[in-house]
Amino acid sequence: MTADNDTTENGSIREPVCLITEKNKMEPVFTPQRYKIADERMIPFIDPEEIRTTLSVHAHPTLEQVETVLAKSRRKERLSLDEAAILVNAASPGMTDRIKTVARELKREIYGNRIVLFAPLYIGNRCTNNCLYCGFRSSNTATIRRTLSDEEIVRETRALEDNGHKRLILVYGEHPAYDAEYIAHTVRTVYRVKSGNGEIRRVNINAAPFDIEGFRTIKAAGIGTFQIFQETYDPEIYDRFHLSGAKRNYAYRLTALDRALEAGIDDVGIGALFGLGDWRFELLALLRHVNHLEACYGIGPHTISFPRIKEAQNVDASRFQPLNDTDFIRMIAILRLAVPYTGLILTARESEKIRKEAMEFGVSQIDGGSKIEIGGYARNTSSQEIEREQFRLNDERSLQQIIADLTAKGYIPSFCTACYRKGRTGEHFMEFSVPGFIKRFCTPNGLLTFAEYLCDYAEEPLKKEGWTLIEKELEKLDDSIRTTVAARLEMIRHGQRDLYL
Ligand code: SAM
Ligand code: SF4
Repeated sequence: MTADNDTTENGSIREPVCLITEKNKMEPVFTPQRYKIADERMIPFIDPEEIRTTLSVHAHPTLEQVETVLAKSRRKERLSLDEAAILVNAASPGMTDRIKTVARELKREIYGNRIVLFAPLYIGNRCTNNCLYCGFRSSNTATIRRTLSDEEIVRETRALEDNGHKRLILVYGEHPAYDAEYIAHTVRTVYRVKSGNGEIRRVNINAAPFDIEGFRTIKAAGIGTFQIFQETYDPEIYDRFHLSGAKRNYAYRLTALDRALEAGIDDVGIGALFGLGDWRFELLALLRHVNHLEACYGIGPHTISFPRIKEAQNVDASRFQPLNDTDFIRMIAILRLAVPYTGLILTARESEKIRKEAMEFGVSQIDGGSKIEIGGYARNTSSQEIEREQFRLNDERSLQQIIADLTAKGYIPSFCTACYRKGRTGEHFMEFSVPGFIKRFCTPNGLLTFAEYLCDYAEEPLKKEGWTLIEKELEKLDDSIRTTVAARLEMIRHGQRDLYL
C-alpha cells in the first residue's frame, strides 16, 4: 500500500482500503446492518462468532495439547487463535504453572532483564463522549474540566525532564478542540522543551481516532506510537458502555489504526479495557487485531495494553465483570506466549505488587512517577483528587523509587528511543524483531540511557547500585559489542549524551 494509492485523481483522500490477503481471507465477515456502515471497506474485521466458537471448540484441552502449544511458543512463533484458545482454557493449577513457567522463560530469553520506562502527560479532559467507566465522560458534570495552556505544557514537560523522563505519552479526551492540528501542536511544543541535559526524545499519543488526513497531520509532528484501545471488541457490550458521542461508532474506532497505517504512521498500539466483557473473548480479539494488521499491512502493533477498570468519579462499579488478579496474570502470560515480540504495557493503574509479578511473566514497559491529574507534575501533587482524574492510580511511587526497585531486582531501567530515531519502526522493526536483536541493540541502549539517568538524576545510593548493575551487565554482552558499549559509557560519564546503537 503506497502513499500514491491514498489520493484519487482529483486529489481528495480515499477511504482506507484493507487489503485482504490469502493469509487473512477469513476477513471481513461481520456485517450487521445496525452499524450503518456506509463503506464496506470500513466493515469491522472482528467476528464475535468466530471468537466464541474458537473458545468453545477448545473448552477442554488436554495436557498434551497445551504442551504442543507451549513448544511452539518456545520456538518464538506467534500463536494462532486456536492455539491461544487452548491456553485460555487450560485453567487447572498444573497447566497454569506450565503456562507461567514458559512465559517467564520466553520473557527472559527475548527481552533480557530490560524494562522500558515512560510517563503519561494528560493534556486535556474535555470530552464529548459518554463512556460509562470513565471519570471524564460528558455526563459527569462533577469533574473539573481543564486543558493545559502552552505555558503549562512546557512546565509539565520540564518537570518530567527534571525527573529523568525521555519518553512520554500524551493523553486527550475526545473533543472538537483536540483536533489533529492541535495535537500536532502539543507534540511539537513538548519536543521543543529542553531542561538541563533533559529532553523528550519520543512522544507517543493516546487520543480519539482520526481520518487519514488527520493522522497525516499528527505523523508530521514526529510522533512515536499512536495508541488507541478498542475498550471491548464485543460490539454488543461496546454499545452498552458507550452511550453517546462519536465513540459510539464501534467500526470507526476499530478501523482507526488501519487509517493510521494508511497515513504512514507505522508504529501503533492496541488495547482492551478489561472488566467490560469476558477477558477470554477480549484476549482472542486482541490477537485477531494483531493478525489483521499483520495480514493487511505487514506490520503488527508495536505494543498491546490491557488496563483493568479502576474506580472513577461517579462510576457505577456494579456494571463491570472484574478480572481477578490470578486470571489477570495468567492472561498476561498467555499474551506473552502468543505474541513473543510485541511490547506489553502495564500502567500505574495497577499496584506495585501486581506490576512486579506482571513484569516477570511478560510486561516489558511500565510508567513511573505518573500523575494523571491535569497539571499534576509541575504542581507535584501528592494526594490524589478523584474529581480531577480519569480514574484512580494504584502505584504512586516516584520514578526514582521505581528505578531503585528495578535495579535492586536486577532489571535494567531503559529510556531507549533508538529504534524510532534510527527508522527501525514498522516493517523495518519487524525485520529486526529476530532472535538476538533485542540483546544486541536494546540491552546496550538500555544500559546507555540508564547511565545517563544515573549521572543526571540519581541520588547517591542508587548511583552506586546502578553502576554496579551496569558493570555486571557489561560482562554479559557479546565480545563484539562490549568494547563499544564500554567506550560509550565512559563518554557518558564525561558528559556526552544521547549515544545509541
Ligand atoms: N479519550 C481517548 C479515548 O477514549 O481513546 C483517549 C484517552 S483515554 C483518556 C485512555 C484510556 O483510559 C481509555 O481508552 C480507557 O481504556 C482507559 N480508561 C478509561 N476509564 C478508565 C477507568 N475507569 N479505569 C481504567 N482505565 C480507564
Ligand atoms: Fe472521553 Fe476517552 Fe474517557 Fe471516553 S475514555 S469519556 S472518550 S476521555
